[in-house]
Amino acid sequence: MMMTKFVVVGGGIVGLAVAHRLMTDRPGDSVTVLEKESGWGAHQTGHNSGVVHAGVYYQPGSLKAALCVAGNASMFQFCEEHGLPYDICGKLIVATDEAELPRLHGLHQRSLANGLPVRLVSGEEARAYEPHVSAVAALHVASTGIVDFGAVCRKLAELLVAGGAEPKADTEVTGVTTRTGGVVVHTTRGEVAGDVLINCAGLHADRIARLSGITTPVQIVPFRGEYYELIPRRRDLVRGLIYPVPDPQFPFLGVHLTRMIDDTVHAGPNAVLAAAREGYSWGRINPRDVWDELTYRGLWALGRKHYRYGLTEVARSLSKKRFAASLARLVPELTSVDIVPAGAGVRAQAIRRDGGLVDDFLIVEADRQVHVLNAPSPAATSSLEIARHIVSRLPADQAC
Ligand SMILES: Cc1cc2nc3c(=O)[nH]c(=O)nc-3n(C[C@H](O)[C@H](O)[C@H](O)COP(=O)(O)OP(=O)(O)OC[C@H]3O[C@@H](n4cnc5c(N)ncnc54)[C@H](O)[C@@H]3O)c2cc1C
Repeated sequence: MMMTKFVVVGGGIVGLAVAHRLMTDRPGDSVTVLEKESGWGAHQTGHNSGVVHAGVYYQPGSLKAALCVAGNASMFQFCEEHGLPYDICGKLIVATDEAELPRLHGLHQRSLANGLPVRLVSGEEARAYEPHVSAVAALHVASTGIVDFGAVCRKLAELLVAGGAEPKADTEVTGVTTRTGGVVVHTTRGEVAGDVLINCAGLHADRIARLSGITTPVQIVPFRGEYYELIPRRRDLVRGLIYPVPDPQFPFLGVHLTRMIDDTVHAGPNAVLAAAREGYSWGRINPRDVWDELTYRGLWALGRKHYRYGLTEVARSLSKKRFAASLARLVPELTSVDIVPAGAGVRAQAIRRDGGLVDDFLIVEADRQVHVLNAPSPAATSSLEIARHIVSRLPADQAC
């Protein structure tokens, strides 16, 4: 059997996990990772909440449900094996009034269908977990936890180097030429020839797919998620993870309170349309990205359907008081003087031409190519299992 050369685009947690799985499962093959930034996990992976989700929210039978539930276990196991910090602290999803109870019960049923260790608890029982929470009832999810996904990326990159793979930072992919039996990837540091291309470029994955000759059924639209942080003397208001009951129409979970692995407590993220794929603040505008958004029929269709939700999110983004008011629904003692801005992340959310938000992970396979076109939350949690899924579906030998 000949050696197959794999070229992975993107050194976020998904690309690194795929490269690591290739290296482990196909020791005779070669693996190169191309990452445009100088460090690993510089975009979505390095700007997220650090939560290892359990699998509560996802449609039973979906890729998200299967790979999140399995990914939760494999992420904690990876951290244990490699001495990385983690804490399976559990989380509470709280119904703050009676009107939210049917949706909370719906989540309970869905969690059970996904095989999770969850418990529906009264408001009083909820306060045994989180003494400052306001809840008429809550769902306690025991298997949710926290990690440092940046540290996971650095460990994966270290393992790749040790195992003989080639993770190349500061190498931006600018073009792809497909040829019989493989691809030539053009980068800012020269050409890389490969037998198989695996595109894990996150916020730019649809563009890499198009450069590779794929007609994508979706476009990636960037939604910024902004965070505040609790000032140190108010951190004791939150022990672990406190989430609201989400609106099932959207893939976003609603602003929540998250104790991070470094013991800070983050509040957020919200979800506002960004004017750049790497638009971490209102001031970051990228004309090409704005043009792509404005000329995309799918975004206009989404806007027509959900403009009220969008305007509410913008108002909350611009007003610290409104942001604090959302938090106070969960923990009434919190006010706007208790929080300070704490950065943002940008989600790569794929949207269909009819304006539908792609709910499940979307992985498109073509001849000698695999494109990860929708890997928003919980893809960091699920990354090791997304990698296993992708690698298990590759033909045994693709060398030319
Ligand atoms: C605010 C926020 C909160 C979140 N919270 C959670 C959470 O708590 N738990 C969870 O499981 N998930 C969470 N997520 C989702 C999670 O972060 C992502 O699903 C996951 O990080 C996706 O990983 P990725 O490798 O696909 O993308 P990325 O981490 O974005 O990596 C893609 C990489 O590709 C590189 N790249 C792009 N274009 C090129 C090019 N042309 N050439 C070379 N390299 C290129 C980029 O520089 C980047 O490093 C959150 C996301 C956000 C934004």
